[in-house]
Amino acid sequence: MKLYNTLTRDLEPVTTSDGIFRMYICGVTPYDTTHLGHAFNFVCFDILARYLEYKGYRTVRVENVTDIDDDILRQAKKVGMRWDELAREETRKYRADMRALNVRPPDHYVWATQEIAAMQEMISTLLERGYAYEKNGSVYYDVRADQDFGQLAKMGYADMLATANERGNYPDDPNKRDPLDFVLWQAAQPGEPTWDSPWGKGRPGWHIECSAMSTRYLGPTVDIHAGGADLIFPHHDCEIAQSEHSSGVKPFVRYWFHVAMVRYQGEKMSKSLGNMLFVKDLLETYSADALRLYLAKHHYREDWSADDAEQGLEEAQAQVTRWAELLARAGAGEHSLDPEPYEKAFRAAMDDDLDTPRAVGHLESLANAIAECLEAGDDVIAAQVTLRTLAGVLGLRLEDPHLV
Ligand SMILES: [Zn+2]
Repeated sequence: MKLYNTLTRDLEPVTTSDGIFRMYICGVTPYDTTHLGHAFNFVCFDILARYLEYKGYRTVRVENVTDIDDDILRQAKKVGMRWDELAREETRKYRADMRALNVRPPDHYVWATQEIAAMQEMISTLLERGYAYEKNGSVYYDVRADQDFGQLAKMGYADMLATANERGNYPDDPNKRDPLDFVLWQAAQPGEPTWDSPWGKGRPGWHIECSAMSTRYLGPTVDIHAGGADLIFPHHDCEIAQSEHSSGVKPFVRYWFHVAMVRYQGEKMSKSLGNMLFVKDLLETYSADALRLYLAKHHYREDWSADDAEQGLEEAQAQVTRWAELLARAGAGEHSLDPEPYEKAFRAAMDDDLDTPRAVGHLESLANAIAECLEAGDDVIAAQVTLRTLAGVLGLRLEDPHLV
């Protein structure tokens, strides 16, 4: 199988030396309802893991929840809730949405607030090794000490700074040596939750969370690290910097897997613009299978627009209903339909950078062949097994529609 690796900007054969893929996905900051863009990200990652397992590999999957963050504190204040209660409640809703969508839970679901010790240990190592400095109770990563900083984004300094500033960086923080330096440990602010640390009371920076948690659960090298394409910079470049310079092991990540953005009404779907389609609402009208099939008809690496969602979901709904009907019919007969060519074509598509739109096309062809053979009274049992198995790789359940 080949996958596009953001680090090399190239398609690369995906290999593992021990048959296991250690996979990490940046989880949600729980202050917001799950929208279609989130669903696309987590469904694509789920399909990738399911496909690797279908090919005979094992996966160990870790997902974090950033349950302490500027956004949560801001939102908690706005709605008059305790920050930790807001984070718990929103996480519960997010996980319910994922469960409804048949996105498998990770092997380790890790809360940032429960991993503070691992973060502090990593920060201490970075200080010892000269990649970080402390000022007035805060600790910063020193980008000038790191010649390789920004290897994933491959931008010049000015673009890095502009992008970081758009995404939560405080360039004017007087404690910083360089405006691009990022916070590892943030000194206590009035009214904010704090933890004790060697540098005084405070809370962790966002980027250090993922470095510390992935290292703790997967070791110094992650095979596949996933996340939305909007996390490439600064978040993932900061993760590389922290992880490689604290562990001394390179690479931190073997394959960077980034999922494209979903637009709606002309802009990236986002809380700040308010142009969102919520998973929970969509599931009131369409089945989880329909929603997943609709998402799988888009390649994970191409931005797309959900403006046609209504039509696309109607079509997907009709399609999964038909497939489920075909699987529910008795299929014995004299001549049998050989599903192997369809399975081969499905694999070829998936091996080609997880080309799910093409793979869906092959499933539709197999479904059509099954329909024809059923009419002719041929044996379709093997073909039904194949359709169920391959649809399962896409996370489709295709339950018997006659069972209520
Ligand atoms: Zn992360």
